[in-house]
Amino acid sequence: MPKAIVFDLDGVVYLGARGIPGVAAEIARLQKKMPVLFLTNNATKSRLEYVRHLAAYGISAKTDDVMTASYGCASYVLENYGRGNRVLVVGEQGLREELENEAGAALVERRAEIVACGLDRQITYAKLEAALRCLNAGAAFILANNDPTLPREFGASIGSGAIAASLIFASGRKPDVIVGKPSAYLIKKLLQIHKIKSRDAVFVGDRLEIDIRMANKAGMKSVLVLTGVAKRKDVLCAPKSDRPWKIIRSAADIGKALGI
Ligand SMILES: [Mg+2]
Repeated sequence: MPKAIVFDLDGVVYLGARGIPGVAAEIARLQKKMPVLFLTNNATKSRLEYVRHLAAYGISAKTDDVMTASYGCASYVLENYGRGNRVLVVGEQGLREELENEAGAALVERRAEIVACGLDRQITYAKLEAALRCLNAGAAFILANNDPTLPREFGASIGSGAIAASLIFASGRKPDVIVGKPSAYLIKKLLQIHKIKSRDAVFVGDRLEIDIRMANKAGMKSVLVLTGVAKRKDVLCAPKSDRPWKIIRSAADIGKALGI
């Protein structure tokens, strides 16, 4: 039996504004038996905002139970560059808040030591230009996640990776780090906070090349749900690195699949 279960959010716990039926109840049941944790590539919200967001779907979680790419960027900055750096953010409130609170960053528009980039739905030419100047002057380049698109009700929208692509193209530089999945940085951090070994944890996700690849790379048991992006037939064409340990219809069935 695993010692912890980690859920991806979009496509696993909810789809846009709609909770996936039975998942909140299953999470409540599992929470009586083991730590239930949540991990998302999203960097627009802070961990605290996610705690409130999950509550709206009937799920109770503590701040430490949630890992986001916003918090991940802030921990990466703190670990690698220390506190109090001048950081230019191309991103939203959650990323700004985590950098200020966790890494003591001074958020600036020019002469930054670090450029942190995530999804920014208020992106402007001026903001990209300011970031480019700092990158050209040698600032560190941190990317929250490389997701090309953002799934929306009407189809795909511009993701964090697509925004970063303009900076990468213009500066001729690659990010120094991408903290989001499929990198194992976020999951290692989350498991470390809870003192859980990766081999004792299960990851439940909906994307093969992001969630399942990360879980396999981290040495966790990977479970694919069919309520999000990947379909059963996609598994057949996937490389070995992206194949799940188990496939289940929905996260509502996770306990049954694991015999918990
Ligand atoms: Mg997902």
